Amino acid sequence: MADQYTMTDPTTLYADIDTKAISQDGPGLDADMRDRADLGEETYRGSGRLEGRKALVTGGDSGIGAATAIAFAREGADVAISYLPEEEEDAQRIVALIEQAGRTAVALPGDLTDRETVRTTVQTAVEGLGGLDILVSNAGKQQHVERLEDLTDEQFDETFKTNVYAFFWLVKDALPHLPAGSSIIATSSIQAYQPSENLVDYATTKASMNTMAKAIAQQLAPRGIRVNVVAPGPVWTPLQTAGGQPTDALPEFGQQTPIGRAGQPAELAPAFVFLASPESSYVVGETLHVNGGMPTP
Ligand code: NAD
Ligand code: MG
Repeated sequence: MADQYTMTDPTTLYADIDTKAISQDGPGLDADMRDRADLGEETYRGSGRLEGRKALVTGGDSGIGAATAIAFAREGADVAISYLPEEEEDAQRIVALIEQAGRTAVALPGDLTDRETVRTTVQTAVEGLGGLDILVSNAGKQQHVERLEDLTDEQFDETFKTNVYAFFWLVKDALPHLPAGSSIIATSSIQAYQPSENLVDYATTKASMNTMAKAIAQQLAPRGIRVNVVAPGPVWTPLQTAGGQPTDALPEFGQQTPIGRAGQPAELAPAFVFLASPESSYVVGETLHVNGGMPTP
């Protein structure tokens, strides 16, 4: 595939990527995945769709956020990425790719479950980019737990802090900096519509994010700030190999979709580009499903 515009059969695309991965500890690293996810490093071709824009992408070190950060940079945006301190190796690779696209990169390690860290993350992004007009709230926590009795209060709390509270805090802190024409995008999930029995906390947070995004979208639209959601299906990222799924579920990961395989982060990035760009000026409070064809209500 030369670039994202090359006509290909989506069912056979990525047939060479084997999701029989090693499972990982902690947040998981792209660098440790076997096989590596496609972040569009070799293929994403920009065409000036985000020229001069200033974007903050949380969880921009790996997976969907990293593919989005690369695409944004190649479309002409300066990009700040936030990530956990233990993900420095992945983050530095994405920083280099943003800079290779000729754009400014800002690296923001920090735990977004902490209120103060969110504040400094947004502030440092604004200072490093010289403003802010795109916010992608994409960092997320997903840990499968088979029995409700084993879902700890601590995990329930952390999943909500990472997925719901951080989204709320990021929007609140970014708002004073966002001019009319800005775009806010949240990464939700198919889990908001088809919750898995072993992802009780996670699926619930994603439904919360959808509802919050729709409510905020109505409030901010009159100010010229658009809020939208991308809802991915199964995508090959460290989130899944680091406890998002039971290890024995990984070989079949994504095969239940009508397309018949897991998605790659590179296939998500164009959805974020579209919603970030002024070409989607009349798209507000919408959810863009990128899930290999799974029906959603
Ligand atoms: P990923 O592991 O590559 O990205 C998630 C990122 O979240 C991590 O890189 C990490 O930097 C960040 N993060 C987690 N906890 C954090 C914390 N406390 N503070 C700061 N950052 C933190 O995996 P991904 O699949 O690309 O995930 C990106 C988003 O996509 C998540 O919101 C996830 O829920 C969503 N999503 C993923 C899938 C999938 O199948 N991979 C499906 C639907 C939705
Ligand atoms: Mg990561």
